[in-house]
Amino acid sequence: MNTTKIGWIGLGNMGIPMAEQLIKAGYAVTIYNRSKGKEASLKEMGASIAETPKALIATTDVVIIMVSDDAAVDQIFNDKNGLFGAGISGKMIINMSTVSPAISKNMAELCKEKGGQYLDAPVSGSVKQAETGQLVIMVGGDEAAFNEVKPILEKMGKMAMYLGDTGAGNVAKLAINSLLALYTQGLAETVLFANQQGIKTGDLLNLLNNGAIANTFTKIKGDAIIADNYKAAFALKHIVKDLNLAKDIGLESPLAQTALNTFEAATAKFGEEDLIAVIKHIKE
Ligand code: NAP
Repeated sequence: MNTTKIGWIGLGNMGIPMAEQLIKAGYAVTIYNRSKGKEASLKEMGASIAETPKALIATTDVVIIMVSDDAAVDQIFNDKNGLFGAGISGKMIINMSTVSPAISKNMAELCKEKGGQYLDAPVSGSVKQAETGQLVIMVGGDEAAFNEVKPILEKMGKMAMYLGDTGAGNVAKLAINSLLALYTQGLAETVLFANQQGIKTGDLLNLLNNGAIANTFTKIKGDAIIADNYKAAFALKHIVKDLNLAKDIGLESPLAQTALNTFEAATAKFGEEDLIAVIKHIKE
């Protein structure tokens, strides 16, 4: 049994399977989610439930946050019943959400003033990698703090890399997701182009998956296209958030701007579906 008590905030597509890895590894985990009804599977595995972030941090040593965006992070820290509503001295807060480096710097500063520590630790990989503890984790903040919690991170990921000061993890993640956006739009356009010229989707993907540019992403998203299954593993609305965050910190390129325009235009109709649903938007 690992003695560190972990608090987990955010039970979305990623939060649930990531928290599961920690329970499986023997940690005592207390969970909180804004809306109720998502706790069942974790509760069955032994998780305790907290009613607020404030109550959660009071009984745990390390708090991990996996929520949508900057606004959600701000609420979790600053609401009346948020983390800062409790004493955070000696506590470690790890924010694994994909957010701006600015909010990480802000929260890290406030945590330090109150005697706590903050690491930004976003992840690469999606639900499948979360379910198997195979995420890639990129970390910014104090290096000694990183080394302290590395064993916890390694329960969720196949690697956890320290990159530098607060926000460095967020910057690396936004760079990776800008390529993800380009890649997703490229895959969608390629499939549609081949279809228009009479090549079946299954045949094209079979060729792609066996050729020199084969990769896990094409395999997973290609299978989704063939199955006509656009249930969100990574919601399309989140890539719009990430492209905007990357733009805010200086990503200015013709390809990135094109992808932002495409995904933004797709959001109203397909925002809650998986990002590869962009293929349906482009086809319209
Ligand atoms: P998701 O399924 O959309 O879940 C979002 C979570 O954030 C839910 O628990 C939601 O609570 C919570 N939340 C949203 N707004 C909130 C607020 N104002 N206050 C408190 N909680 C709030 O998202 P996800 O796919 O798990 O992704 C989580 C983060 O990881 C995002 O930053 C995403 O960009 C990043 N990420 C996702 C993937 C992926 O493949 N899905 C991969 C890598 C990184 P409710 O249940 O109450 O709505």
